[in-house]
Amino acid sequence: MHRCQVAGASCGACCGLYNRRDLRRPALRAELRRRTRALAAVPRTPEAFRAAAARLAEETPAPLFPSVRVCMLLGFLDEGETRVGCLAHPAQTGGADLRDCGVYDASICASFLCPSHAWLSEEEAALAAAATGDFHLYGLVVTDVPFLRAALAGVAARTGSRVLLRHLDHAPFRAALRRLLALKEELAPGSDGLFGAFRAGAAGEEVPRRIDYAAIGARPSPYDEILTCVGADPRSGNDLDRLEAEVARRLDACATAFAPAR
Ligand code: SF4
Ligand code: SF4
Repeated sequence: MHRCQVAGASCGACCGLYNRRDLRRPALRAELRRRTRALAAVPRTPEAFRAAAARLAEETPAPLFPSVRVCMLLGFLDEGETRVGCLAHPAQTGGADLRDCGVYDASICASFLCPSHAWLSEEEAALAAAATGDFHLYGLVVTDVPFLRAALAGVAARTGSRVLLRHLDHAPFRAALRRLLALKEELAPGSDGLFGAFRAGAAGEEVPRRIDYAAIGARPSPYDEILTCVGADPRSGNDLDRLEAEVARRLDACATAFAPAR
């Protein structure tokens, strides 16, 4: 199953959505709106789309990581601005495949599947979509398999029960789990926790991340797995103690809200 477009959520991470300093939802929304509006009036031809993409790129914020491409053809797929996706895809243009006008080419765009497609189970992917439910948080979570697993394991450790999709039918629990996952939205720009999902090994395997507690003179945290995933290391610009307290608070809230959901 594709992880990119699912019921209630969508992702644009590999098109460069998060490669910028200001990752806040309003800033991303404004940028996606700018591109969507600009491209709406552009003739569906390669020449016109290429020229429009170049114009849009001139006014876009500098990328955080210059080596990672940011495609101007990523925008909103719906009028309500709930779903992010490729505006050059034939399903959006009405027939023409204009993905060659982006930062890759159509064959790369059509065939690329990030590691989450292989690493996440269907159940985990469904939990990510149901708990996040939008383009902003879903993309950050679905591309970070270790984080999602660590968060779910943290809740299970508190409640003694594995989190199942049906538990999210209970709105207070769904909200509490969303708040836990939303740690990903609150990290310092460029921190490990934002882009860890792309730290794959030479053969595409997961590469473990770790917080070097000894080097920063701290005791190992009982929430090490989650903290490692969010890059709660001062060298990532994040405050370890503050994030540890937040993790504990948000896990407690999940556990409190979980009981009625059983
Ligand atoms: S990062 Fe993965 S889930 Fe997101 S759009 Fe790309 S391939 Fe799809
Ligand atoms: S052209 Fe390719 S990189 Fe650009 S938005 Fe579409 S799928 Fe993403």
